[in-house]
Amino acid sequence: MRYSKAFIPTMKEVPSDAEIISHQLMLRAGLMRKVASGTYAYLPAGQRVLLKITGIVRQEMDKAGAQETLLPSVQPMELWQQTGRDVDYGETLGTFVDRHGRGNVLSPTAEEVMTFIGGGEINSYKQLPINLYQISFKYRDEFRPRYGVLRSREFTMKDAYSFDADAESLEKSYRAMYDAYCRIFQRCGVEYVIVEAETGEMGGSGSHQFTVPCENGEDVIVYTEDGSYAGNLEKADVDPAAIPTDQPDVGEMKELHTPNAGTIEEVCKFLKAKPHKLIKTLIYVCEDKPVVILLRGDHELNQEKLTQALGGKHVELADEAMVVELSNAAVGFAGPFGDVIAKAATVFIDHSVVAMNKGICGANRSNYHIVNVKPGRDFPLEGDNIKIIDIRNAVQGDTYQGKPLLFKRGIEVGQVFKLGTKYSSKLGAKFLDADGTEHPCLMGCYGIGINRIMASAVELCYDDNGIVWPISIAPWQVIITLAGADENITEAGEKIYAQLLEKGIEVIIDDRDIRGGVKFKDADLLGIPVRITIGKKSIAEGKVEIKLRRESDNKKVDVADCTNEIVTIVESLKNELK
Ligand code: ATP
Ligand code: MG
Repeated sequence: MRYSKAFIPTMKEVPSDAEIISHQLMLRAGLMRKVASGTYAYLPAGQRVLLKITGIVRQEMDKAGAQETLLPSVQPMELWQQTGRDVDYGETLGTFVDRHGRGNVLSPTAEEVMTFIGGGEINSYKQLPINLYQISFKYRDEFRPRYGVLRSREFTMKDAYSFDADAESLEKSYRAMYDAYCRIFQRCGVEYVIVEAETGEMGGSGSHQFTVPCENGEDVIVYTEDGSYAGNLEKADVDPAAIPTDQPDVGEMKELHTPNAGTIEEVCKFLKAKPHKLIKTLIYVCEDKPVVILLRGDHELNQEKLTQALGGKHVELADEAMVVELSNAAVGFAGPFGDVIAKAATVFIDHSVVAMNKGICGANRSNYHIVNVKPGRDFPLEGDNIKIIDIRNAVQGDTYQGKPLLFKRGIEVGQVFKLGTKYSSKLGAKFLDADGTEHPCLMGCYGIGINRIMASAVELCYDDNGIVWPISIAPWQVIITLAGADENITEAGEKIYAQLLEKGIEVIIDDRDIRGGVKFKDADLLGIPVRITIGKKSIAEGKVEIKLRRESDNKKVDVADCTNEIVTIVESLKNELK
């Protein structure tokens, strides 16, 4: 590629709406441009990076025995209704009604369609196991698209789906994908950690998440120092709080007037109390019945744990009418008394609430709270509809199996799931075993965000001057910078350029008629791993300079040796990522 012909619109200024480094650098380096909130156009250099990543993903998937397919992005709503995920995905699901009145879904993932396809063709155990994948656009109407392509509304995902006859075989298929993912991230040059994950709206029995540790990540990884446990925040279990043995005496419950103080913050301010002294009474709804959750005021409900506790059923916050009906009060003043407990299908009480002695909670009366509340004395801890469980997010200070939990931020780049029969049973993907008995296929699904890998790589590999690409996913491996308009410079540059192309090296020659300083800045911003600089002084001595983007020193080599030297350098950089 000749830079003079290339469309690489670099920018000097940091775009004002780009909050994190990958977003800033991907815009500044001319890799992409924003079209609208959460949608981006990839420009030629950016598209080259994406193609490199998809190339690696494709190779590793094929090596692992998966076969590439391509499913439609526009999918019939009925399939989503059959699994109930039209509801689970909620407003994140992009939908439209076509001119014939049929409902359509813009694919955010493709369990339904792939199960439908597999189900239509698989009849016998002899056809199993099989793993089908695709690399395609996915659409999610994210509540808050942000951080550039890390959370966008349209993105490229590789999604694979395995069909197996028994649990042992599913375990093998799952392991093959897990191992392929390790190789993919290794080859892309992005550091990663693997953590246990919750299955979320995907359903199923087990999952691992591949996460790039990085400050700007939206995910929280929870782990123990000795590495015996690592999970994401949605999954992380915590040890139950110890219940103090000699609890001080608590006076009688007392109702206090707390006008307009409906939130934890407002109550704390009004009563001059610390949040951990409060008991939050949350009212949710599952299958039209109220579900009540009691949490310590400083804790957060873990929605995934709640969903798991309800056997994977859809659960959401109750509407105002239900809260008012149960608590006889405006939203913000419910407490664990009367109908709130009696009429709940289930009351989930977090362990840490049980360990409290003197709490403050809503009074089931608008603008009133109750103090001196003692769990067990003032509201029940036992009963047919009462369950004491771990239902909150882990926080600093928690332990798991006695070991302190540590927290680190990260970007989820991939996730693998054992789905079991959730989709196959609902969508009729069944096979006959050797005895002629029919069973639903055991499935797994495996997703990787291609754009997220790209942005994560930038988050990990940059310096003050720009991106520092791992060679495997760099838009070009080598840049030749012609630092001057001298005839000897051009001649040597063109010769090396032709030789490198001949050797199969991905090279761009900066032949623009501009100052050398600007060319150096662009080469650094763009992050090309190896730079050859041909300047007036060195060429007069028959030499050129070679510099690695990640190092500050350069070395001089004879013009005649340059091509071979570069081939060796590129090979050794590639080998580092094998
Ligand atoms: P998140 O929790 O970040 O919303 P998810 O768990 O819903 O992601 P999956 O359904 O597991 O995502 O999708 C598989 C992969 O697709 C993710 O691991 C991620 O790399 C990528 N991905 C998901 N949502 C987005 C998005 N909005 N923008 C870019 N990539 C995404
Ligand atoms: Mg995920």
